[in-house]
Amino acid sequence: MQRKGAADKVPAQRITAIYPGSFDPITNGHLDLIERGSKIFDELIVAVLRNPEKDPLFSVEERVEMLNEVTQHCANVSVDTFDGLLVDYAVRNRARVILRGVRAISDFENELQMALMNRKLDPNLETVFMMPAVAYTFLSSHLVREVCKLGGDVRSLVPPLVEARLRAKAVSL
Ligand code: ADP
Repeated sequence: MQRKGAADKVPAQRITAIYPGSFDPITNGHLDLIERGSKIFDELIVAVLRNPEKDPLFSVEERVEMLNEVTQHCANVSVDTFDGLLVDYAVRNRARVILRGVRAISDFENELQMALMNRKLDPNLETVFMMPAVAYTFLSSHLVREVCKLGGDVRSLVPPLVEARLRAKAVSL
């Protein structure tokens, strides 16, 4: 069978992906995923969930500000917030992909459940999983908050700006 030449093909659709999460705060693991995602999708929206049930360390506005600063070098990445159903937010933004990270087997069950539920809600939406660099597979925002609270050094775990904000928070708490 002959391969279709590029000239015969229908132009590929632009793919917008959404990377949703709490990002409280953004870690080097999140950033690693954002950089990987920005290389394969035309547009990547990092979407901070407005979740009234959680008691966050940083306000949504603070998290958005930090995300904007540390993703400045990725031209096709934007930062936004959302509440309600992720699938509705995806439709509003004409996104066809949800990007999620998997660090370890422990992430898998929850992520699988969410991905299948989102597929049930909107069969046109695909969840794409990416793995971070090995060095970040143990890293979570929760762990960073705990280490920082106990006075540990988080410089290799988060961008410098985030480390400074964490230190300022620890002093003011
Ligand atoms: P949640 O509150 O749902 O855990 P997070 O903001 O912590 O959201 O994470 C958002 C997404 O980023 C999730 O898919 C999570 O698995 C992924 N993620 C978090 N930390 C890392 C990391 N170190 N490496 C790769 N992916 C990560």
